[in-house]
Order: sequence, then C-alpha cells, then structure tokens
Amino acid sequence: MTRRLQNVLVLVLVASAPRPALAQAPVAYQVSFPEPEHRWMLVEAHFDDLPAAGALELRMSRSSPGRYAAHDFAKNVFDVRVTDAGGAALEVSRPTPHQWTVRGHRGRVRVSYRIFGDRTDGTYLAVDSTHAHINMPAALMWARGLERRPVIVRFAPPTGSGWRVATQLFPGADAFTYTAPNLFYLMDSPTELSAYSLRTFTIPDAPGTPMFRVAVHHTGTDAEVGAFAADVEKVVREARHVFSEYPRFEGNTYTFIADYLPWADGDGMEHRNSTILTGTSSLRSNRLGLLDTASHEFFHAWNVERIRPQSLEPFNLEDVNISGELWLAEGFTSYYGPLVMVRAGLTQAADFAAEMAGVINTVLHSPGRALRSAEEMSRLAPFVDAATSIDRTNFENTFISYYTWGAAIGLGLDLTLRQRSGGAVTLDRYMRALWERHGRPGGALPGTVDRPYTMADLQQTLASVSGDAAFAADFFARFIQGRDVPDYERLLDSVGFVLRPAAPGVASAGQLRLQDSGDGVRVVAAVPYGSPAYAAGLERDDLIVSMAGGAVESPAAFDRAVRERKPGDEVPIVFERRGIRVSAVLRLAQEPRLEVMPAESAGRPLTAVQRRLRDAWLSSGARNSF
Ligand SMILES: [Zn+2]
Repeated sequence: MTRRLQNVLVLVLVASAPRPALAQAPVAYQVSFPEPEHRWMLVEAHFDDLPAAGALELRMSRSSPGRYAAHDFAKNVFDVRVTDAGGAALEVSRPTPHQWTVRGHRGRVRVSYRIFGDRTDGTYLAVDSTHAHINMPAALMWARGLERRPVIVRFAPPTGSGWRVATQLFPGADAFTYTAPNLFYLMDSPTELSAYSLRTFTIPDAPGTPMFRVAVHHTGTDAEVGAFAADVEKVVREARHVFSEYPRFEGNTYTFIADYLPWADGDGMEHRNSTILTGTSSLRSNRLGLLDTASHEFFHAWNVERIRPQSLEPFNLEDVNISGELWLAEGFTSYYGPLVMVRAGLTQAADFAAEMAGVINTVLHSPGRALRSAEEMSRLAPFVDAATSIDRTNFENTFISYYTWGAAIGLGLDLTLRQRSGGAVTLDRYMRALWERHGRPGGALPGTVDRPYTMADLQQTLASVSGDAAFAADFFARFIQGRDVPDYERLLDSVGFVLRPAAPGVASAGQLRLQDSGDGVRVVAAVPYGSPAYAAGLERDDLIVSMAGGAVESPAAFDRAVRERKPGDEVPIVFERRGIRVSAVLRLAQEPRLEVMPAESAGRPLTAVQRRLRDAWLSSGARNSF
C-alpha cells in the first residue's frame, strides 16, 4: 500500500465521524494502472484489526452476482505479495486454487497483486489504454469473516488519461475514492473508469426524486449519447408504471454504464443501483437493440435485485447458487423488456408481436420441453450461463433457455389474467403484488434482501391476485412444474392477434445446422429429437452425400431440395457417418414455424373488446394508470 492511500484513509475516517458501524477498520483497496496498454492493473489491499490468533483466508470469487456459472477469477492473478504492516513477508499457503491463507500476522495484513483482464462485459475485467472496466468479483481479493466490514476503494487512474469513475459505489472523500457498506455491496458494484460521455436526468417519485445517470464509453459522438439517454429516460419512465414507484436506490441514484466498443463483448448485467451494458455495435447502427438490453436490465432493478428468489440470497461468491425461479427472475424480465419498449412508443405492436412469435416458436418446438419443466431449466443455469466446457453437450435437445421459456410464461400468464378478468387483472398487478410483499420491504444491510420469495410464495401471490387459489395451483402445476404450454392461439386472439403457421404447405427436414466443410455438406449441431432428419438417423458430424440421387453441393442446395418437395414426401438420402456410408429415407414434415400478427394485418376483423384489451395491454401505463 502507498502512503497516499493511508492519507486518504485518515481523511475518510475523520470525515465519517459518528462511527458505530466502523468499530473495526474498513477493508481498504487501492487500484492503479501502471501499464494499462498491457491489460493488467495493480491491486493493493489493507486488512486491519484482525483477530491476532487465526489465519486470514483471502479469496478470489468463483461467481459474480447475476451470472450463474462458476468462474475461476483467480486464474488471472499474479505477482502476489503478502506482508505485515511493516513490509515483512508473511507465510502464505494455498489450500485451494481460489484461496491464499495467511498465518502469523499480528492483526494487519497487506496484499498486493497484479491481475490481467481483457474482456469487456458484465462478468470479467478489462484494462486497456481507453478504460478500466472492473467487475469486482473478477478483480478484488476479499477476506472470509470480514464480509460485513465497510470498504474503501481508491482508484488511481493513469496520469493524463482523463478517466473518471462511473459506479454505484458511494462517493467518498474525493472523485476517485468510493465506499461500500459491506462486501456484498462491493461485489455488486462494477466500476468503469474512462473518459465516458455522461447524461443525467431526474424523475419525481414519492418519496424522493431519484437521479439517473447514463455513462457511455463508445466510439461515436456525444450527440448520440444525448439521444440515447432521451430514449433511456422513456424506458425508465414507462417501467415505473408497472410497479407504481421506483425502488429506493441506495444513494438515490441509478447508473447505466455502457461500453459500446468494437473490442467489447455483447452483454447486459443487472445490479441493485446500476447496470453494465456492453456491445460491439454502436448507438448509430443498433439503437433499438442496445435500448432493448437497457430496458431488460432496468426492469431487474425491481425483478431479481429486490424481488429476489430465496435461492439467490445471499449470493454465494465461493460457489454457484442453484435457482428454480429464473423463469420469473430472467424470463418475466425478458417479457417486460420489449413490452416496456412498445408501451413507451419506442417500437410498434408488430415488432412486439414478432418478438413474441420467436419466443412461442422456441418453446413449442424445442425437444427439451419433453424432458424438463421451466423450473428444471432454471436449475441448469450454472451449466449454460457463460459456462464453458471442452466436451460437447446436447443442450440443443435437452435445454430451453429460462429467458425464452419464462418470457413465454409471462406472456401466457398476462393474457390469461386479462382474459379471465375482462382486463381488470394483469401481470402488472401480479408484479406489483410481488413488489409489495418481497421487494419494497428491503433489507437491514444495504445490498441485501430480507424477504426473498420461494416458489410457494409465487403461487400464493398469484392466488391472491387472481382471487382463485385453484387457478394458481393449476397454472403452476401445468406451466411451471409441468411441461404444458398455454393455448397461445386463443390467448392472442383475445387481444386481437393471430397466431398461425408461417409457411403452410412448406416441407421441412427439421432445424439442421449445415456447413460447407470443404469435403462436403456437414451437420454441425445436434439434430433435433423427433425431427425428420433425426428419424432418418442423421447426427452431428455426418456428411450429406446425396438426396434423391443428386449430389448435395451446399447447405443452400439441401434447403432447396427440401423446399421443392411437400410435407409427407419421402426422399432417399445418403450420408457418411463416422466414415461409413449410410442410405436412409427422409420423410419430410410440415415446416412448424408460427407467426403472430395483428388481426387487421391478417385480414381478420378486430372487435371492440379485442381492441380495448389490446390497448390496455400495449399502451403506456401513463394512459392506463388509475
Ligand atoms: Zn436478465
């Protein structure tokens, strides 16, 4: 640690005078960037007031709030030095790859290490000459047993860089010093240091007027950030109508931190009072796409950050949490992201309908639905959410994203509630009830949730909102714990939309991913269970030689050969499987894809009742509030 940090600590401690919460010294970090172009940063940490007996167990996290797979953040740590307050080296052992155990200290430990990071997204660390994009679990070593201590972080940007700080951490003694009330809040507080463009706006709300900040690090113009912030404000205003109020943001501020850079990776990550939005595209080329992510993440400020499943609370930084409720936490958020956009007038009803068609198609036609419920799909998150493995999986056949399935359930539940109540009861009302029971009460410790929900709570709240316990029990049994899907054709009809086959009379061999592999047309993804190609014995890696006696020259030629035939036609096919030639018969099916369109675009009459229900569903909550 540097003398400079010691001075800052003295200042901060003096400034925060009545200090019952600071009975023990805060954990203090200094983060600096001696060679940002080489993509590493230097972390120096002070752990003081330690019980003299006993070891200090320093950890790198294995998971990151909002991300569901296990990670090995310790892998990028190097040049670790552990000393006492006088600079004498201390004995360190490594019981696990993620831990440094320090013995023989006399109550004070200093740690310094360098850490490499080169991925700009919501999970990892990225350091380069344009910014430091810091996800705390990927960057900061912490100590077991000190989780409730306050934290001070001092950033020392490169001289002349012009970097400023964007974060939900609490402002400290100067523009580069920040605090967190405890470890949970620190780990939930990603921080961007760069010469970003900033816009702010406030929206009056009872009891306070929260401030919203939009900080964008990108390669476009400042005017584009202004236009983007205006769009974000529309989303932020519209989302409020679902819940009738904003959460009480700690610090009364919510920060959108965006990195739209050719060298970033696409992501969006929610936090209590901020979100990380990253993408390779630009505000100019992908305005609505980037806004859609912002809409999703902001909805999380209620749904998952505060209306939080018991299974994610407290968040385990040493392992992964398993949750059967992600169909609601992520899926309903995926339903509301685009719904808020259309209500805010940023997209059209037809855009929203097309999005819902994609969701319905995936859920209705994915073979995984025969194997697992939405609850069970949620529990697979540790294996699919930014998880990596070198061996293959067959998730194409056994998994449906809880984002997609959950969005389909959100749509189905919303329209079911509206239809059975003539529009009086809605999913908005359900979300508001969850907010009142589980979100608004908050937590005694900043950054925590004292009344997380269980699956039984979700069902019980549906019973009370719908006034029908049998309906709620049936809905959960069939659509959450079972593998049934609501009757989307009938439900969409109630709001004046038509669900119908997108390609009647068109033949299909099943969703095959084919590639020109140099030696022919190869199947490069698992073949869907139950599809014509599956029945014919085709599988990943097989090389398609001929169809109906003619050579198959390209993936496009295969598609053409299928489409010039009719559903039910039987076509001889020859392929090579593990070096052996196989002859089979491909019995083509009807292309199953469905489309959703407004009744009037499909040439159907729109009744007054349908129009009223549709307007109440898709128009701004400002108009609907009562
Ligand atoms: Zn999400």
